[in-house]
Amino acid sequence: MLGAATRLSAIFGDPVEHSLSPLMHNAAYAALGLDRAYAAFRVSARSLGAAIRAITALEMLGVNVTVPHKERAVRLVARLSAEARLLGAANCVVNRAGVLYGDNTDARGLEADLRSQGLDLAGKTVIVVGAGGGAAAAALACLRMGAGRVAIVNRTSRRALRLKRRLARWKAAPHSITLHSLPELVEPDLIAEAAAVINATPMGLVSDKFVPLVYEATAKDCVFYDLVYQRAPTPFLQPALELGRPVADGAGMLLQQGALAFELFNEIAAPVEAMQEALYRALGRA
Ligand code: NAP
Repeated sequence: MLGAATRLSAIFGDPVEHSLSPLMHNAAYAALGLDRAYAAFRVSARSLGAAIRAITALEMLGVNVTVPHKERAVRLVARLSAEARLLGAANCVVNRAGVLYGDNTDARGLEADLRSQGLDLAGKTVIVVGAGGGAAAAALACLRMGAGRVAIVNRTSRRALRLKRRLARWKAAPHSITLHSLPELVEPDLIAEAAAVINATPMGLVSDKFVPLVYEATAKDCVFYDLVYQRAPTPFLQPALELGRPVADGAGMLLQQGALAFELFNEIAAPVEAMQEALYRALGRA
């Protein structure tokens, strides 16, 4: 029951109806018995500034920001984490005593999920398909896990170059970032080297098809990870599954970035099990 004292958090996106974040966060509030609630608001690009300003006006705890607002959100907050600045995108806006703080939990969420699966990327090559916000988070997660090379494969070369320049600011370890076009996914030389192939595009969602990729040329233990999640295996993962390669979709990343966001908004440990149960039930995996 919502009451006069209920504190709100939310997600802002357009579209937003498909979001599973309200389910996860509200399950967490219920598990902890907190008088708090998480809503979903469809916010147009035109309304984003006003919606962000409403966070402090309404004394909300904070909001998640999703497609297509993550990049603009960076310019609408007073303070920014180093990670959000590096990625050029914020997926969380936290109300810190009336001051808006932008952060990005996507890379940390993916890293937590990859580590939980026991993936060792030290010195290895990872292929990231895409060059948007999700790809930036995926590349950063892999670099943090010690990947020796991140091969960015994207439709638009200018966008890939922009991401490479962004990632070049991350200097914590020796690594290389190489740029490739989508047709190179049928070249065995590139594919054969990969310890993991990560899809960070919505390809397959709309057309039910992923671009041609020589799955057979990958090492037997090459991990296929799709940031996209749905009830059935995604078109990117299906051929890998048929070859017996290890696969995972983005449900784990969604869970982990959501748990980190919960902690930012509420300043308490997230009940990850309750959040996972709600998410898996919605995805038919309970
Ligand atoms: P984005 O910033 O809009 O980037 C989209 C990327 O996909 C771009 O690199 C774009 O290439 C590429 N792309 C789009 N349509 C394509 C097509 N038909 N053929 C080839 N390439 C295409 O989006 P994003 O925020 O990175 O999100 C990407 C995906 O990851 C989405 O499906 C999103 O739901 C998912 N995601 C999941 C999580 C999670 O927690 N599991 C978190 C973040 C994102 P161009 O540069 O050529 O346009």
